[in-house]
Amino acid sequence: MELDWATLLKRTYDIDVMVCPCDGRLKAVELVTEAERAKELLEQFVMLAKSPPVTRARPPDWDS
Ligand SMILES: [Zn+2]
Repeated sequence: MELDWATLLKRTYDIDVMVCPCDGRLKAVELVTEAERAKELLEQFVMLAKSPPVTRARPPDWDS
């Protein structure tokens, strides 16, 4: 019998890793077995986590 990692974590540590902060359910979308693909995904997550640069506030009549 083969169990997925989420089921194993639930059984072993009683941690539900598939619950979303909004109380919804997460779903697995990809099984990553290649190191290069894992690196690529991690780089994408880091880029998404970085907030865009904050620009200085301008008065409403700045460009008039
Ligand atoms: Zn959610």
